[in-house]
Amino acid sequence: MSETKTDSIVEAVRADLLRRSQFGIAKYGTTLDRTDLSLRNWCPSLRGSVGSMTINWNKVTCELAPPEGLSATDMKEQAARCPCRGSDDYCTCQNVPDRTTLEKRQSAR
Ligand SMILES: [Zn+2]
Repeated sequence: MSETKTDSIVEAVRADLLRRSQFGIAKYGTTLDRTDLSLRNWCPSLRGSVGSMTINWNKVTCELAPPEGLSATDMKEQAARCPCRGSDDYCTCQNVPDRTTLEKRQSAR
């Protein structure tokens, strides 16, 4: 007979959803089973939730891996380190972070 395993991440999400549900019920005095709102009435709440999720997602992904692009300062600094001196827009110094830029980003965290 197989033993039921639980996933700590899933259990944490379940606990969080339950906590949010209890908070909402206490705050609004009703559950999501309410039928007095149209789908259109749910949109602002959904938009807010998606907005928060997007912001949080960007925060996390930017912390884990900064954008690959170069700022104007990065491009200027990399041009100074490259034989092309920034004269070639297609040179990697103007398009991809070099080792120095990557190390600078790493130490800035
Ligand atoms: Zn270059």
